[in-house]
Parts: sequence; C-alpha cells; structure tokens
Amino acid sequence: MPHALHGHAITNFPRPCPDETLYSLFWRYHRVSGLPTIKDTLQALTGHPYLQSGTEFPSYIPDLAAVLNLSISELVDNHTLFPFFMPFTPKDAYEKSLEHLRNGRAESSRKSLSLVANRLSTNDYLQWCPVCLEEDIGKFGIRYWHRKHQLPGLTVCPNHAVILHQASWKRHKAQLPLEDEYSDVISRNDKQYVWSNLVSEYFHSCRCQLNSARVLDTYWIRLKKLNLANEHQIREAELREELKFFWGDIWEESTAISLNSITKRRLYPACLFYNNKSSHHPLKHLLMVGYLFAGWSDFLYFYHSGKNEVCPNNTEPPDTENDLKSHKWLALKELEKGSSLRKAASITGLSVTTVKSIARRNQIPVSVRPKKIYGFIERSIWRQLFIGKTTQEIARFHKVSVGSVEQILKAHPKTTELRKRIRFYRQRQTKRNLLIAILNKNQSHTRNKIRLIANSPYNWLFRNDKSWLYSQLPDETPRNKRHKNKRKAV
Ligand SMILES: [Zn+2]
Repeated sequence: MPHALHGHAITNFPRPCPDETLYSLFWRYHRVSGLPTIKDTLQALTGHPYLQSGTEFPSYIPDLAAVLNLSISELVDNHTLFPFFMPFTPKDAYEKSLEHLRNGRAESSRKSLSLVANRLSTNDYLQWCPVCLEEDIGKFGIRYWHRKHQLPGLTVCPNHAVILHQASWKRHKAQLPLEDEYSDVISRNDKQYVWSNLVSEYFHSCRCQLNSARVLDTYWIRLKKLNLANEHQIREAELREELKFFWGDIWEESTAISLNSITKRRLYPACLFYNNKSSHHPLKHLLMVGYLFAGWSDFLYFYHSGKNEVCPNNTEPPDTENDLKSHKWLALKELEKGSSLRKAASITGLSVTTVKSIARRNQIPVSVRPKKIYGFIERSIWRQLFIGKTTQEIARFHKVSVGSVEQILKAHPKTTELRKRIRFYRQRQTKRNLLIAILNKNQSHTRNKIRLIANSPYNWLFRNDKSWLYSQLPDETPRNKRHKNKRKAV
C-alpha cells in the first residue's frame, strides 16, 4: 500500500541494504520516484524542499522511519555515522544530540556533539571501494554508498586494503558510486591501512560510553613507560613529535580533511589532557590509541584492566563546550605551570595580549616572574637598562627573552624616564657628529647648501637642538648677497 506523506504518495520506496547510508537510500528512491529534482523528492518525503540532506546527519530520519516502518534507533544505529561519536562523548551530550536527530534537527545534533565547537571539517566528499562495489552488484544487483567507507579519517577500505575512491558531494545531485576497473591495493603494513583499520575497528567494536578520566589514565600509564610522562606531567612537545613521526604521511598530509584539521593544530595532543571532560572528536583519541597500543581492542583491554593510577592532569576542567573558553583555560594552566606569556600564547594559539589579560585576571604575577626565575640576574639586567642598553642587547647578553627584560623595565618606571633621556642624548650626539662631519667636508658651503646636504641631522637638530645648530652653521648670507646669488644662478 502506498505510504502518504505531506500530501504526496510515496511508492516504491527501496529497502535499505546492509550498511547503506540514509542519503544513499534517499538517492536510490529519488532515481525511481520519477520526481524531477532533489527538492521535489525532499518535499514529497518531508514537506520541506530545503531540508538539510547532508551526508553525516540527514534531517529526514523521522520521515524515513515512518515510510520504511522502521524505528528511528534502527536507522540511526545501522545506517548513520552517529554511533561513531558515542564512546568519547559524555552521556548527556550524546543523548541530547540523539534527541535532536530524532526530531529531524541535524544541525542542533551536530552542535550537541561539539562538532561545531571542535571546528572539525566534515567530509564534503563521498567514498567507495571498487571491490566492495563489485561484490554489492553481485549480491544485491545495485550500487550504493556504504557507511563503513564514510567514517571520518578513513582513506582505505579495511576489508580490501584498497585506496578509497572519492567523489565530491553535490547537494542537489543524486550520485551513486561508479563502477571502476582501477583499484589501488596497498600493503597492510602501510600506515594508511593501519590507520583506516583502527578507525574501522573502533567503529565496529565499541558501542559504549567510555569514562574520559579513565581513558586518560590508560594513556598516561603507557606514556610513563615510554618516558613521555612522569608522575607530574606529560611531555607534550615530545609527545607531539613522536606522534608526528609515528603517523608519518598521515600526520603531514592526509586526504582526509577531518584528520588534517586535527594534526595541523599545535594544541593537539595537549588539549586532550587539559580538557578531559569536554568531548573530543574520536579521531583525536584514535591517533593516540594507534600510537600507544597495538589496536583498538588492545587499548580496551588496558582500559578495562588498568591499575588505579591517576593521570596528573586529571584536574577539574572548565564547565564549557566552547573551544575559545577551553583555549583560555589551557593558557591559564600553562601560566600556572610557570610558562612565559609567549609560550602560553603559542601553545594555545591565543594572542600574547589575551594571555596577558588572562594572567592579570587570575592574579598570576607575570610582571614579577623574572625576579623569581633570574634572581640576581635581574639586578644586572636593571643596571644595563639604567645605562640605556637596548632591551634586545640585554636579552641576548643574559640569554633571556626580550619580554622578560621589558617586564623588569616596567617594574621600574623611573628607569624608563631615564632611558628616554639617555636615548635622547645619544641621538643628539649622533646627529651633532654627522653635522660636524659634513661641515668639515664642505667648509666653503653656505648655510642653505649645508641644510640641503645634511637634511636629516639638520632637521632633527633644528627641532631639538636649535641653538647648538645655529652656533655651528656658517654665518647667514647677507640679504643683498642672497639676492645676487639667485640672479647668478638664473
Ligand atoms: Zn572494499
């Protein structure tokens, strides 16, 4: 019996194939519906021609469930990427997101998963494996998009070790994978395969929420063994280098956009440890898991059997989903550790001014910090400031940052005044010397000619040292002679 929705009769709606994505199903329907455009099909199905028909989280799930006479959960669990986010998303956020999806609000659903705050690019392409496609045609007689090939970060078919083919996603065009003779098989030792296999193993074997603190503890125990952490802290910079080295090409330049947007950020992997209760994209965890463990099941084994050791960074995180807020929180932690403003700024990607205001607001005494660090050196720095050496010279001499020298200077406002005067006298001396040299070279020149040749020192001295200037210049040409000279020139 035809199903009537939104005043249109829905007939011939295809049944979903195993692991078929919902937009694949939607497009297959569109092809048999006889409706001219995607908008018409959306209108027929949902009553809204402009509904979000995107790839990861389509808004038409409730409508499809009604047409297919299947439960929403059945569709979400078996035909969307939604469960991908379950293990690393806090329970309440996950449920809130699921509720939005059930109500056809895809964008709110993405927001609840922090995907928007995480600023992670989503795939704007569709992927398929030519070998899987051939098998599908043999088995079902049709082509369709598999969910298992659209997993974030995936570049290789985990079943066939074939590099996935990509097609850019077009909003208003029904696309199905194309049959292709060409398949690029790679070694199962290749990092691309190792990575894709890990992502796939994770997706297909874990349908439970993990405790974020425990996850970090599991990492931490392993990091200590690798000498990348001690009892108090994780060596973040070294860890980043190690990850980069381990993942090689995948880290540097992956064809998966979502992966690139993680590895390009200097905040990663430090952000995982500081912000342990906010949700992080699963790929951020998987890069870590792949490096530290033999695979996803190996990680789960240690996760479940771990000793009761507590990661030192498992302190109270900010109560926020906001990325900027967590960056600020991370900056605060850096400052508390004693990092310089510059270091805290470069780690978090915030500006030095922002970090400085965070320090001020939290009463972290950045301006007196050099005293603590350099002790008696501070006195030596101050002496050099007092005699007017440049902050750059002093910084070089003491092997400290210019910022630290400037902070000492700021703590002594009278020195600043004095240095201004010293700079003025030095500058005056330079200009005077320049003028004298020019005068000596051009003893027969008139005052006017000297002014033209010695333009820069003349102007400066005219403004700042006029009486000395006039005492040095040749006598003024008498007015009558000036006139004569002018006529001569003509
Ligand atoms: Zn395949």
